[in-house]
Amino acid sequence: MIIKFREQPASFAGYESLLRRLPSGHPKIPFVLESLTQTRAGFGGECRLDELLEFFCPPYPYVMLQGVSLPEKCQIDTMIVTQSCVILLEVKNISGLTRYTQQPSGFHKVLPSGEVRGMKSPLVQVENAKFKVERLLKRLDAPLPIFTAIVVAYPSQLVEGAPAGANIWRAEEALVRLTTMPLPPVKISADEMVRLSERLAALDSEFVPFPLAPRFQVSTKELLTGVFCPYCEMHKMKRLARSWICRMCERSIKGLDERILDEWFMLVGPTITTKECLDFLNSRI
Ligand SMILES: [Zn+2]
Repeated sequence: MIIKFREQPASFAGYESLLRRLPSGHPKIPFVLESLTQTRAGFGGECRLDELLEFFCPPYPYVMLQGVSLPEKCQIDTMIVTQSCVILLEVKNISGLTRYTQQPSGFHKVLPSGEVRGMKSPLVQVENAKFKVERLLKRLDAPLPIFTAIVVAYPSQLVEGAPAGANIWRAEEALVRLTTMPLPPVKISADEMVRLSERLAALDSEFVPFPLAPRFQVSTKELLTGVFCPYCEMHKMKRLARSWICRMCERSIKGLDERILDEWFMLVGPTITTKECLDFLNSRI
C-alpha cells in the first residue's frame, strides 16, 4: 500500500523561472541550469524506481512512502515500513562513471575528459538518513531496525569501488531484492505499522530552497521584469483591465498576477511591496 505518492519538486518551477528572468549571457545561468538538470535527473531516477515497483507484492505487509522530507532535513527517496523493520532507498541517477573511495569515504564522478569531480557520497547520505530516522522512530516509540540501500536508476550508470557490504542495487533488481530479502522478526502489529506510517507521512514537509536568487548570488535588480506569456514564452504581455494579452500570440490570459507573485516568492522572498510588485510586473497604474 502506498500512502504518500511522489510529487514533482517545487524547485523545478523556481529554477525555470530564474532561467527565464536572467538576461542572456548572465554568468549564473550555467549554475542554475546545472541545478535544474540535477533535480530533473534525480526526479527522473526516482520515478523510474516507482515504475519498476509498480507490481511490488512482497510476502509481508508494508506501507510505502515516496519522496518524504522528515524533520532535520531528512529526505528519503522511498521509505518502506514493515512490521519488522523500515527500509530506506536512496535513488541515484548520475550519468557515466562514478567511483567510491574509502578512508576517507568519498564519491567521485569521472568526466569523459578524465577529470574527477568530488560529490556527496550516497553511502554517507544514507547513513545520515538512517541515523535521523532511527532517532525519529525512537521518539515515536517504534524503535524498528532500519535497512538501507542505494538504488542505481539506469543500467548506463557505471559504479566502481563500492565497499564490500554496501547495499547498492540496480533499479531493475530492487523488486526481487525487496521481495526476497529476509526480514527480522515481527515487532509491531499490522495496525501499528499503518499508524506509524501515517504519523511519518504527517511529518512530511517538502524542503524548498526558496528564495533562489540570493542562493545564486543574483540581486533583484539583475532579474528581467515583466510578464512572460505562458504559451509562446515571449516577454510581451500587456495588461488589460482584468487580464493580460500577449502581443505575439494574441492570447488573453487571466490569473497572471498570482503567477508572477509566486515567481517573486520563489526568487526574491516571502514579502513584496506595492512598488516592488509594480516594478516586477513592469506595469504602472
Ligand atoms: Zn504568447
